[in-house]
Amino acid sequence: MPHQRSLASNRAGPSVMAGLHLDGGTVFNRIVMPSRSEPSQTAEDYLERIQELIEEKGYARVVDIASTLKVRQASVTSMVQKLGEAGYLKYEKYRGLILTDQGRVVARRIQNRHATLSRFFSLFDLDAETQRADIEGIEHYLSPATVEMLDDLARFFEKHPAILRQFQQGRSPRPRKPNDLS
Ligand code: MN
Repeated sequence: MPHQRSLASNRAGPSVMAGLHLDGGTVFNRIVMPSRSEPSQTAEDYLERIQELIEEKGYARVVDIASTLKVRQASVTSMVQKLGEAGYLKYEKYRGLILTDQGRVVARRIQNRHATLSRFFSLFDLDAETQRADIEGIEHYLSPATVEMLDDLARFFEKHPAILRQFQQGRSPRPRKPNDLS
C-alpha cells in the first residue's frame, strides 16, 4: 500500500514539508513537494499511476487516480496541482490530465525500475501478488545504485541458471500458510 511506509525509510531533503495528514488520519513525516529535478516518493506513486491509467484508458481522471491509489479525491487534486506546477503534467480541456515530456521521462524511469524489480523477484518462485505488492512497497525508496545492482544480479542469474537452481535448492524450507504474507 502506498501509504504504509515507515519513517525510517524517509530520505528527507531540503524541500520537505513535514507532518502532512494523509488519508486514514496518520501523520507521516515525508517528502511531499515534487521538485523539478526529482519527484518525491509520493509524487512518484502518482506519476506511475497516471501513466498506467493513460496507457490503459487513454486518459487519467482524478476519480480513477484516487481509487487506484486509495486516497481521497481532494488529495489527488492537491498533488495533481503540485505536479502541474513542477512541470510534470497538465490539464487539457476535453483530454483530461496528460503528462508533459518531462513527466513522461520520469514515468518511464519509474516503470523501468518496476520492470527491473519484477525481473529480479520473478526469479525466485514468489507468488505474483506478493511480488507486485512488495515492489509497490519498496520501489520508491530504492536508490539508483541498488536498482542497478538488482538488475545486474537478475542478469547474472539469468545467465547462470545452474547457480540459481543451486541457490533455490539450498534454501531452507519454511512452512507457510497459503495467505500468510508475513
Ligand atoms: Mn510500481
